[in-house]
Amino acid sequence: MIRIHNARDIHNQLVSLSIKSLQDHAIDATGLTVLPGLIDPHVHFRVPGHEHKENWVSAAQAAVAGGYTTVFDMPNNNPACVTLERLRAKKALIDVQLKQSGIPLRYELYLGADRKHFEQIHQAQQDIIGVKVFMGASTGDLLMDDESSLHGVFAICAKLGLMVAVHAEDECEIQMRKARFVGRADFAVHSEIRSPEVAEKAVKLAVSLSRLYGTKLYILHVSTQQEIALIAAAKAEGLSVYAEVCPHHLFLNTDAYAELGAKAQMNPPLRSAEHQVALWQAIHGGVIDTIGSDHAPHTLPEKAQPYGKAPSGVPGIETSLALLLNAHHQGLISLAEIVRLTHDRPRQMFGLPANEDVVLVDLTLSKTVQDTLVKTKCGWSPFSGKTLTGWPVYTVVQGYLYRV
Ligand SMILES: [Zn+2]
Repeated sequence: MIRIHNARDIHNQLVSLSIKSLQDHAIDATGLTVLPGLIDPHVHFRVPGHEHKENWVSAAQAAVAGGYTTVFDMPNNNPACVTLERLRAKKALIDVQLKQSGIPLRYELYLGADRKHFEQIHQAQQDIIGVKVFMGASTGDLLMDDESSLHGVFAICAKLGLMVAVHAEDECEIQMRKARFVGRADFAVHSEIRSPEVAEKAVKLAVSLSRLYGTKLYILHVSTQQEIALIAAAKAEGLSVYAEVCPHHLFLNTDAYAELGAKAQMNPPLRSAEHQVALWQAIHGGVIDTIGSDHAPHTLPEKAQPYGKAPSGVPGIETSLALLLNAHHQGLISLAEIVRLTHDRPRQMFGLPANEDVVLVDLTLSKTVQDTLVKTKCGWSPFSGKTLTGWPVYTVVQGYLYRV
């Protein structure tokens, strides 16, 4: 049994907890605040095929260090996770690596939508948390940019009651705009190529398909005012449309390219400050349902390449909660909102059973993010050098106690 004494809940009430465990621990949690174990509905832990960037040993350490006890992993692996057979093979690899890590991290997997493997959605339905659709190309070769295939996936998933999670950027628009910016080598051009209109166009199409078939739609990494307007309207209409924002879009904007270069490059890209303001407003207005880290590690040598060669994506699972708690101190978000976005809503949306996982945070602890201290295998963070106040200190996952 793990006994936690004198913790505070988010309403500042004193609480004591007992959590089932194989080992006995007593924690004096005086001065600490207890939150439910966080759920990250969007990670790329890179297995199989990109283990040089991350694996489930390093990723599990990064997750619990960040207060996360449940993650949903994306299918853009090598080979891409688009069949039941590959899904099972991936699960077997993950289970071995988690055993090695000693951390019983809870996880769910998405199946990748692939036009050659539609029947696999039926076959894998019991084994997956949802189906991922890449409307715009990102890391890996999963791309579904033709409308007839999109109709197919939305129709099948509606019938099966499966969530469709979309990377909503219009590929055709991206290619057209790329041609327009040929010759630009600075990383800031990334945000100009993948403009807000690129995301808007794809979200519009995805929402129309959700309306047509009644499909549950999860719009990943919402980053623009335009998307928020579309999603707010879809929700007002009563559609099953859900929205995620990522910490990098909340806490970084296009000014970051000057200092970070490729380390500020991800898809969808960073936006200008006015979009950030809109994201915070959408959080308070209930338009945003979840915070997904979109933890997408690449190595430093990969990121040291010039624009066009450097891959898109940044790590994030270790710093998400600390960034949010720090934002709480700045008056940007309440603790109740943090719990809603990182636990309550994703649990409801995906129908996860209740569990006893918790994270104990020290709201007064200040630490500076440092590349040398991160657990993720890629060994860096876009937030390095930032001093944040409010950090997890204990994470309990399935009765396993992790001291951060
Ligand atoms: Zn992603």
